[in-house]
Amino acid sequence: MDLYEYQGKQYFARFGIPVSAGGVADSVDEAVARAEEVGYPVVVKAQVKVGGRGKAGGIKLASSAEEVRLHASAILGMDIRGHIVRRLWIERSSDIAKEYYASFTLDRTAKLHLCMVSAKGGVEIEEVAATEPEAIARLHVDPVDGLDLESAARVVAQAAIDEPAREQAAALLVELYRCYVEGDCDLAEINPLILATDGRVHALDAKVTLDDNAAFRHPEWDEFDDPDPGDERERLARQKGLQYVGLDGFVGIIANGAGLAMSTCDVVEQVGGEPANFLDIGGGANADQMANALEVINSDDKVRSIFINIFGGITRGEEVANGIVQALGRVEIKAPIVIRLDGTNAEEGRAILAAYGSERLESVPTMVEAARRATELAGGAAK
Ligand code: GDP
Ligand code: MG
Repeated sequence: MDLYEYQGKQYFARFGIPVSAGGVADSVDEAVARAEEVGYPVVVKAQVKVGGRGKAGGIKLASSAEEVRLHASAILGMDIRGHIVRRLWIERSSDIAKEYYASFTLDRTAKLHLCMVSAKGGVEIEEVAATEPEAIARLHVDPVDGLDLESAARVVAQAAIDEPAREQAAALLVELYRCYVEGDCDLAEINPLILATDGRVHALDAKVTLDDNAAFRHPEWDEFDDPDPGDERERLARQKGLQYVGLDGFVGIIANGAGLAMSTCDVVEQVGGEPANFLDIGGGANADQMANALEVINSDDKVRSIFINIFGGITRGEEVANGIVQALGRVEIKAPIVIRLDGTNAEEGRAILAAYGSERLESVPTMVEAARRATELAGGAAK
């Protein structure tokens, strides 16, 4: 889960990382109220989960209520690279002397955490990496050892951070590392990390991605609600605990196992169909999961046929078939369904589906044939 900048900053603050004082606003009046609270001058910042807000005109300085009004009304509703601005973050403006970059992420190849620090902050780090790779100091951190102040100071010096900022930057790196590890982040990035004219070093931006697999030990993450509903289908699927990714096609897909779900998408593409989604119902494939999956697919108006691709392993074919039959009793499905059921007790399973005898339900023995049939039923030209 990606956080908005203001949520990222609140998260940073819990770990002692200095950020500017500020508040959120969902309207122009609220923006003015927040500005009065923090004191002028302020920065009016668009809250969208995409970078480059500054360049897009989503970040403006304001030194009076009139200016806040002007900028807040211009920024609210703005489309920044496909993201509509619904919320603002109003913070006390900082006088910037220098802009730096600092982040922690996982280097999967090295199997270590990776710390990156650069004196060239404020611009996109990918750009710095491409044009001036030597301007980024890198430090691998072994999760067993953690990050001590000495190592942090070394990487800060290596990045050529200005002398007056070094001590604070090193201490901040240690706090950022703690936020990244204890806070279960996949990414904790500050760009820019600034040296202000008053000599203080603090985070002016926050990009935090939380590791969803750690959500069970962070009940406090529930508060990171999102004013942007995003993809309605994905929201529904998340609520039901399904592994779902919405796509643009017309063949709804349900499979057990992520690998099979991906292969199913590929095979549907291959025969000329277009997958409407990726959906993995996991190992069990019981009636509940199947009904939930069918509900989510059913909520997608673009779906013109549904391809259920199940390979029985530990899960037996007749259980899956019973699950499908029960699910069909609970959910009224708009599109015709093609089922390919294979693996353990597939025969028994197919017999159950045949006995159920719905016109809307066809059982097809192989994956490719089933993909073709689903594509045809959706009105596509199957190859
Ligand atoms: P991004 O464009 O989405 O990465 O948004 P940032 O929060 O990083 O802000 C972009 C740029 O706006 C920064 O690099 C700064 O140059 C500028 N900016 C942001 N906050 C302030 C501030 O408090 N004072 C000043 N003077 N500039 C700011
Ligand atoms: Mg930034």
